[in-house]
Amino acid sequence: MIHKRLTDDQLLLETDYTSYASSCRDPHVTPTNDLVECRRQSGHDDTHATRAGVRAIRWALPAPHAA
Ligand SMILES: [Zn+2]
Repeated sequence: MIHKRLTDDQLLLETDYTSYASSCRDPHVTPTNDLVECRRQSGHDDTHATRAGVRAIRWALPAPHAA
């Protein structure tokens, strides 16, 4: 199975079309110490992401804890 990686354009389109209320909102501190929140659809797969100007910032999902 081929894992399809989203391009920045695809991520930005998703964040732009997702309302704040229905977005993931996972907090993330960027390397420049800005606090941002994931603006992808809640329950999304793959990485968290948000818009930063014309670019997308991505960060990894935390590894799930074993029960
Ligand atoms: Zn997210």
